[in-house]
Amino acid sequence: MLPEDAERRQVLEHHARRILGAAGYQRIETPTFEATELFSRGVGEATDIVQKEMYTFDDAGGRSITLRPEGTAPVCRAYIEHGMHKLPQPVKLWYLGAFYRHEAPQAGRYRQFWQVGAEVIGSAAPTADAELIVLLAELLEALGVRETRLRLSSLGTPETRAEYREELRAFLRANQDRLSDEVRSRIDANPMRAFDSGDPSTREVMAGAPTLLDRLSGEDAEHFAEVRRLLDDAGLRYELDPTLVRGLDYYTRTVFEFNSDALGAQSGVGGGGRYDRLMEQLEGPPTPASGWAAGIERMLLAAGELPIARDPVDLYVALADPAAGPQAFELAYEARRAGLSAQLELAGRSLKGQLKHAGRLRSRYVAIIGSEPHIGLKDMEAGEQRELEPAAVIPTILRGSRL
Ligand code: AMP
Repeated sequence: MLPEDAERRQVLEHHARRILGAAGYQRIETPTFEATELFSRGVGEATDIVQKEMYTFDDAGGRSITLRPEGTAPVCRAYIEHGMHKLPQPVKLWYLGAFYRHEAPQAGRYRQFWQVGAEVIGSAAPTADAELIVLLAELLEALGVRETRLRLSSLGTPETRAEYREELRAFLRANQDRLSDEVRSRIDANPMRAFDSGDPSTREVMAGAPTLLDRLSGEDAEHFAEVRRLLDDAGLRYELDPTLVRGLDYYTRTVFEFNSDALGAQSGVGGGGRYDRLMEQLEGPPTPASGWAAGIERMLLAAGELPIARDPVDLYVALADPAAGPQAFELAYEARRAGLSAQLELAGRSLKGQLKHAGRLRSRYVAIIGSEPHIGLKDMEAGEQRELEPAAVIPTILRGSRL
């Protein structure tokens, strides 16, 4: 992350903090690595993430550890470990940090990438899902992420899904000679992934496949209808996409994803959904929950110009005589303690070079210290200079008055 990237990220973080903070979400940060078992259990053995993408190794004590590939399982682990179920529910959390997936790097896809995420733990309400979705929409809008589309679906409960999967497996087997080798080999392990396939013949078959949205049970259908009603009321547009499969196993009911058509092949900017059974899978108390994660690099790629406010420099301390170094050091130090931003000549430039550099930094004032007892203070805006007692320099700048 180079300095100019850091500035744009800071703008993003500022918006995330503002938008999520205003809705009562509190910041949480979990460790960079966890026991491998957390992810194999929490994310799901059959997922691409667990099968192919985790950085897993044994530490010196022979424990298998994994660089976190995602944030939800660790947040749930923290919720369980720190007894957060005893707090007033739901617990609303957000995080921002680096995640790791072993995949072929390309534009918008990295092996270390950053995500901002939000989770509502301890609420089964459709309102929680809708709130999370509108908050992510607000963040994308605040950043000026271009050409976004929201896709929405529901996966029902694991039971409905299991029945549907059997139906889908039967359908895939009946059509297996027209499926790609990869899809055919995963009919048993993960039939839903067939909807993700780019293979033309597989796509043709899948156009006629039964969809889970048509098989939702009464309560799941009601939950989904309510989420949709809330989003409609908020005026948020979405596409229903019954083929939306997220790469993680733990989702139940609502799932969603924002894509940006301003990006290339890797168009997903953020997504998430409800994961009512995850907490039990991690041996915690049964706790319904919902959340999302959004990729910081992708959001910034798809964002327009962000207003970067450069930190102003109040004072540049220049040396007319190298012997005045200690006095210059002290003046810059005192200026900073007085609340000003102050920089010091560190490169041995000529006085002319120093003034030019101060101009590049857009410093408001330059103090010129030489062998005389007084200090020259130059107002860079007005172009005027005055000789001052050393003790008068900082008060003069603080008053901000013209010289
Ligand atoms: P996921 O946890 O897979 O749902 O990912 C959520 C978001 O994180 C995606 O929409 C992307 O914006 C971002 N993301 C996921 N994997 C990567 C990666 N390898 N490099 C960059 N961003 C990623």
